[in-house]
Parts: sequence; C-alpha cells; structure tokens
Amino acid sequence: MSSLRPSPIAPTVDFDRDGVQHGFLRLPYSRDDSAWGSVMIPICVIRNGKGPAALLSGGNHGDEYEGPLALYDLARTLDPKDVSGTVIIVPAMNYPAFRAGTRTSPIDKGNMNRSFPGRPDGTVTEKIADYFQRELLPRADIVFDFHSGGKTLDFVPFCAAHTLPDKALEQRAFDAVAAFAAPFSMRMIEIDAVGMYDTAAEEMGKVFVSTELGGGGTSRAQTVRIARRGILNVLRHAGIVAGVVEKSKTQWLDMPSGDCFSFAEDDGMIETMVDLGEPVEKDAVLARIHSTGRTGIAPQEIRAKMSGMLAARHFPGLVKAGDCAAVVAVHV
Ligand code: CA
Repeated sequence: MSSLRPSPIAPTVDFDRDGVQHGFLRLPYSRDDSAWGSVMIPICVIRNGKGPAALLSGGNHGDEYEGPLALYDLARTLDPKDVSGTVIIVPAMNYPAFRAGTRTSPIDKGNMNRSFPGRPDGTVTEKIADYFQRELLPRADIVFDFHSGGKTLDFVPFCAAHTLPDKALEQRAFDAVAAFAAPFSMRMIEIDAVGMYDTAAEEMGKVFVSTELGGGGTSRAQTVRIARRGILNVLRHAGIVAGVVEKSKTQWLDMPSGDCFSFAEDDGMIETMVDLGEPVEKDAVLARIHSTGRTGIAPQEIRAKMSGMLAARHFPGLVKAGDCAAVVAVHV
C-alpha cells in the first residue's frame, strides 16, 4: 500500500444501520466549474441484522448497462424484510465514466479495472479504487461485479469466475456462478489481471463473481432480464435474500489458454465470418479485415487457434491493429 492516509471519500450512509439507505460516496473534486465540488457516487445499503454481506457493483466500465439497470432496480425494490445481513449496492462504480458513457473516466482517463489497489492521494479513479479496496471489500463476504462488452466488444451472455489457487474459494465462486444461471457460465482467464478489482477481491479471500452480458455500448431486453434474475439468484444462494434460486439451464464454457483470444494485426473494416454462439473449428476464419485505402487488396484473415464456440467479438465495423477481434471458448 502506497500510503495509510485515510480515504478522502465520505459516505453519507451508515453501513451498520438497519433498513434501506440511499446515499452517496462523496469524493471531493475541486475543478473549474465547482471550486469546493464533489463527485457524488450513488450507493444503497440494505441491512437487516447480523449476517453475511454482499457488495454489488455495475459501471466499473462506464459504457456497460445491464449491471446498472439491474442494480438501480434492485436498490429501489429490495425489501429489507427479505434480507438477512447486508446488501451494499454501487450501481455505477466509475461514476464519472458512467455519466460520460465511456469506458474510462473523462476526468483522468482512469480505467477502474486497471486501477486497484488505488491510492487515497491519487487520481479520482484511484481514489474510488482505494475506497473499495480498504473500506468496502473488507465488509463483504461475496462480491459481484457486473460487466458487459461496452462499445467495442459483444459477448454471449455469461456469468464467470476465475480458476484460483485456493480451490475451496474457487468452488464457492463457481457455485455462485451456477446460481446466477445465465445461458452460459464461464471458467474465465484474463489477458492481464494486474490492477483488476477481481484480483483485489480474490487476493482478500472474497468470493468474486462477474459477468459479460452483451455489449455494443447498449443493453438488450434479454440480457437485462438475465441480470435482474441472476443477481437475485446469487443473493438467495448466499442466504442473504429469502427465496429459492430460480433454476435455469446453463452451458459451462472454459477458456483453457491465451489461444482463446485473437487480435487484429491490421487496421481496416472487419467482416465477422462467425456469429456469437456459433461453433468454430480450429483454423476456421473468424473474421476478415479489409484494407480500405484502395481497391484490389486481399483481406487479412483472422483464424481460430482452437475449436469451440465464438464467445465474444469486436463490435464496431472498423478495427485497429491490436484490437481484440474474437474470443473462442470451449464447451465443458
Ligand atoms: Ca467491462
């Protein structure tokens, strides 16, 4: 930890008080249009006596909507009479990014999911990460962070957890993934796990569960329904909300190695050759990148490095060298 100074963030809620509280994490942010201004990050605490605590977040990336839609809704509708323990809801974790509709913060370009453990004396994004690291994560038994593909990726809808060195913790996370009951359930690997909220929670020994529920910088009726039903299922599974888990069929997927990921090596116009959820054979052409500067140039082909199913794809029609073009996952 870079510093032990206290966080500048002041919560307007009391985490130990019973009932429903709708408040803010108030982060001082002095700027041209507000000399003594603050960033007001919405937070809801729903508590009913002693018991386990769930920490739920959306908007870690500001252009992903299933999580915020499900969590603003849950904060408005969850009755504390149905709760045993505590539910802490932060529907738009990187609130400045969420307000701007962008992945990263317009204030400091901070990517929340590469900013952990954060700094109390850092940028706005680092200060939010630090507050989660030192104040919110330690309160939680189970941590759920909603993601979708944002403006540049699109996914088949899945709930996910990571393979972990602690197999008991890993099993508890996969049990929660099964309870979420998305159409797909993923044993997920990361391209680069350093600085992720996921990693911070897992290193603290917390059950950590995430999703990728769609993308394209919007939401769909089906994926929002999956998010709303799934998060209630996880809270019921954890014994925090009364009621039985609404079971639904899920297909387990694995990302066995970095060969899952295909990256563009050219700029151009991308032509998807396989749609999300379709089967893929090793060496099959997943996408073609067409050069647009002149006619008569053959497209570059992006081929699958393993057989499986197309789980994610680049979303916009134009692609740059280095963009993630496709992700293949394997049926378990
Ligand atoms: Ca994301």
